Amino acid sequence: MSILLKLIAMSVLIYMFIPFVITRIWGVGVAVQGRTSRQIALTFDDGPDPLYTPKLLDLLKQKGIKATFFVLGSKAERYPELIKRMYLEGHQIGIHNHTHLPNWFMSPRHIRDRHVHRTARIIEAITGERPTFYRPPWGILNIGDLFTLRKTYRIVLWSAMGRDWGKEQKSKPLKERIINRLEPGAIIVLHDSGDTFGAMTDAPGRMIASLEEVLEDARIQGYACVRTDELLQQDGARSELSDGLKVG
Ligand SMILES: [Zn+2]
Repeated sequence: MSILLKLIAMSVLIYMFIPFVITRIWGVGVAVQGRTSRQIALTFDDGPDPLYTPKLLDLLKQKGIKATFFVLGSKAERYPELIKRMYLEGHQIGIHNHTHLPNWFMSPRHIRDRHVHRTARIIEAITGERPTFYRPPWGILNIGDLFTLRKTYRIVLWSAMGRDWGKEQKSKPLKERIINRLEPGAIIVLHDSGDTFGAMTDAPGRMIASLEEVLEDARIQGYACVRTDELLQQDGARSELSDGLKVG
């Protein structure tokens, strides 16, 4: 192998693979699950969307449930009234980059300034409150993010993925997939927009239709759906307790 190839392989390992193992497999430096006994947090990424977000907000309102929305700054700029509505209805608003780009291909400084701080300012201008929670697109962080972002933001990934962005699988309906993953402290990731790379545009409609039954099942099982900040406030998140990265 030439020296150049070795250098590239080494860079990929340090910049992309190591943070992937640290955060996604070990859950260090990020929050992946709460330590509560009867609470779960529903989180919705990639919005706001002019078609699906109002429908989702209607459902959450009807059920009296508070959730967390990890929004894109570019869409918040386009649909400020939806951000305002989320805020006024008591939901938590978090950051999901300005546009849906993977952090592996950007510098930590660019991500912090052009995506995260920028989106925080956009949201603050609409609601008057600066968001402090961040979830990177696809849950992908680079090694520098763990140092530059954690000084200001709490990085939240998830414990359960609804896999709600594709076609409905006949073998296992979406509602069953989510219900099977309900457990104390679960942070569940779903999507209220289907225009991200790899997603079906009408997928959020199916997610919202299934969610009603999921909420009913969660209620019967005795789970309260709360905002992620509330879930993690209880007694610390799993993972951050074993936080080996002493950063800011
Ligand atoms: Zn996303």
